[in-house]
Formats: sequence, C-alpha cells, structure tokens
Amino acid sequence: MTLRPLLAAALLTLGACAYPYTPPSLPPVTAPASPAPSPAAHAGAAAPTARAPVPTPVTILVSIDGFRPDYLARGVTPRLSALAAGGVSAAMRPSFPSKTFPNHWTLVTGLVPDRHGIVANRMEDKARPGETFTMATDDPFWWNAAEPLWVTAERAGMPTATMFWPGSNVAWGGMRDPARPHERAGVRPRDWQQYNEAVSDRQRVEAVVDWLRRPPEARPRFVTLYFDEVDTAGHDYGPTDQRTLASVAAVDASVGRLVDGLAALGQSANLVIVSDHGMAPIAPERRIAIESIVPATDARVVESGPYATFAPLPGRDAAVAQALLRPHPHMACWRKEALPARFRYGRNARVPAFLCLAEDGAAGGWILARNATDEATHRGAHGYDNDSPDMRALFIANGPSFAAGERLPTFDNTDVAPLLRDLLGLPAGVGLDGDVAPFRRVLRR
Ligand SMILES: [Zn+2]
Repeated sequence: MTLRPLLAAALLTLGACAYPYTPPSLPPVTAPASPAPSPAAHAGAAAPTARAPVPTPVTILVSIDGFRPDYLARGVTPRLSALAAGGVSAAMRPSFPSKTFPNHWTLVTGLVPDRHGIVANRMEDKARPGETFTMATDDPFWWNAAEPLWVTAERAGMPTATMFWPGSNVAWGGMRDPARPHERAGVRPRDWQQYNEAVSDRQRVEAVVDWLRRPPEARPRFVTLYFDEVDTAGHDYGPTDQRTLASVAAVDASVGRLVDGLAALGQSANLVIVSDHGMAPIAPERRIAIESIVPATDARVVESGPYATFAPLPGRDAAVAQALLRPHPHMACWRKEALPARFRYGRNARVPAFLCLAEDGAAGGWILARNATDEATHRGAHGYDNDSPDMRALFIANGPSFAAGERLPTFDNTDVAPLLRDLLGLPAGVGLDGDVAPFRRVLRR
C-alpha cells in the first residue's frame, strides 16, 4: 500500500491552489489518521459481524464543488445516481453570493453569508485596515461570527474529522496574537488537514475510511470530505464540455470508493452529498468592462466576475452612484442597502457600498470584467443570482435515517446545517436561518 505514505508526503507539499488558494506554511496539527487496517477490510470480504458492537451511524458531509444537479442526468454518475435513487435528492438553492467560501460556511453554520460573516471569497473589514481576506486566510477574526458544526459537535463530546472544508483549518473562536506565531485558544476538528489540492481524490477517500477503522470510542461521528475538481473543470471548459463530464465521472468513482470502503468496514453511515453552487456557461463575447463605467479614480473594485463590488474613494460616493445607479445592458446595480430582500445580503459591514450583478440568461452568464484579461479564458462561472437555474446545487442524502426514492422540492442550503444537527442528535440551533422542516417527510426515526 503506497497510498498512506503518498498522502503524508502530499500533505507536507505546498502545492497549487484548489479552492483555489495557496496553503500557508503551517503543518497539520494532528497526525494523519492511520491506525492498523482491519483484517476484514483487507481480506476484501465484508464481515461486519467481526466488528462488535454494531457502530453508531457516522454522518459524512461530502461537498463536490461546482456540481450542477443536472450532471446526474448525463449518464456518467452510476454511484451518485444510485445513492439518489436509494435516498433523498433535490436541486438546492445556494445562498447569495453563489460563491465557494460563503456557501461552504453556510452549509456548516445554517446562516446566510450576511450573518455568518464570510460574505465573499475576497473581502475587507474596517477593523483590519489594509488587510484583505482571501481563500487562504485562516485568522479566526474573519470566521468567528458563526460557530461551525464541528465545533458544536466537539463541544458536545463528539469526535469530528475533516478531510478538507473551507474554515476547518481555523482555530475557531480563538484570537490571533500578532506577537506570537500561533493562535490563542480556539477549537478545530479533532482531525483536520491543511488544504492541499495535490492530495488526490483517492487519498482523500482513503483518509476518511482510515479514520473509520479506529475503535468505536475514537471513531469520528461527523466527517467532512471535499472534492474540487468538478469546479475547476467547469471553470476551464464550461458545464457541457466532455472534459468537465470526465471530472464528474472521476468524482463519482471516488464516491463509489467511499461507499465500498464503508461497506467493507460494516460502518453504517448517513451520507449528505452537496455542492456549494452550480456553474453557468460563459463566453468571451458576454463581457462588460466595469472600469470603463466606474473609473479607478472613483472607486476600488473589491470583486469582479458574475458580480462586482465597489468601494468608493473618499468624496466620490455621488460620482459612483451616478455611474452605477441607472439602467445598464445585462447587469443591475444597487447600493448595498437596496439589494432585493430575497438575496438576504447587504447589511454586513464587510459588503462594499455598491454591488452590480450580471445577467445569467438562457444563453449563459455575462461577466463583469475588471479589464480585458480578467476571466477571459474561462468557459464557466458562478456567483450569479442564487435563484438562477444555473446556480442550483446538488443535494443527495442516503443512509439509515433517510427514506428511499424521495425527491424534494428546491430548498435553501441554510437548511442543511439544521438537518446535520438533527442527524447527530445535537440540539436545534438558536436563531439559524434554516430549518429541518423540509426534510421531516423523508427522515426515518
Ligand atoms: Zn465552489
């Protein structure tokens, strides 16, 4: 078996980005899990009776970044389609903005981005002048507004383990002391890994199965697993390209290896398989040059792409308002306070003063480009209106707690964290933006 040494080596390698980001040079705090494999697993014979007592179901939250629910209809997903057929499925509505970090944090907190504070993949905060949050930022300051599920579970005495998830490398609730290299206090999952795209999907699955080989008392009760490659291919080639479908097929096979690994261990599991957002087709002819509308002498562009945000320079607010707050072809602009209520976005101080949203029509999405080269080579994007059909996200739930063959109407992804709390036997959260109600009909007790 070379997988485990490879995994260990890969985890120490500072590779390219996949959220995408460049990992900071912190080693994993916990050692990679690798207790001795069980004889049953390696004999290739499923022998659950050899492992007593019957394990408590583990709850495994799987994210396949950028996976459109209609990828299940392309004939390349035998394992995911079987899990959907044997469980519960839906096309889920992401939160606005339909970006990776805001939605992953919503999935594990049950709050919309405006309330959990990860309002964008890239953002600023007046309390930290000169600093910009990026997908590499692990300072708890940016994350502390909402408690993620693994912290709630750890505090309830349940071991948790994360094979990547945005924010799972953060010492949550802690505070970074600039005078010292590491954070003060803070809670992380019992086992976690510093994000590294170089760790293959096979190694990620192997790590999860290894964690579940542990004796029952040391076995995690809540596990996350994250796959990035479908999103990367979707951006590079667009959602209909054969190369994107090849990535979909590859991740489907990885999910199959997880299911087979669980079966070989006799490990009962509730699988909740989601994506953070969908993927819209884009094209070079559907681009708007925003710096020709708002010159750099009037505002800083904080983000660009399917939506753009603007921070006016001192004394230039009226000029920015005049340039943006009028009809534009293929985009709409608002002051943050005036965003449509259904976005549930704009009250957080981290949201810049003005936001423009590009159209995502039948032909695909428009791009608000900072300049001529910005995203010019991409063929897919996300970040559009979270109710756009192109932005719909995957939801599949399968396991002893779920009915079989049930299709749910579209619900908001704020409902996933309340569902996970229910599966784990944690108290319902207080003041969350979601609810377990959409799942009551399909939950088995
Ligand atoms: Zn994403």
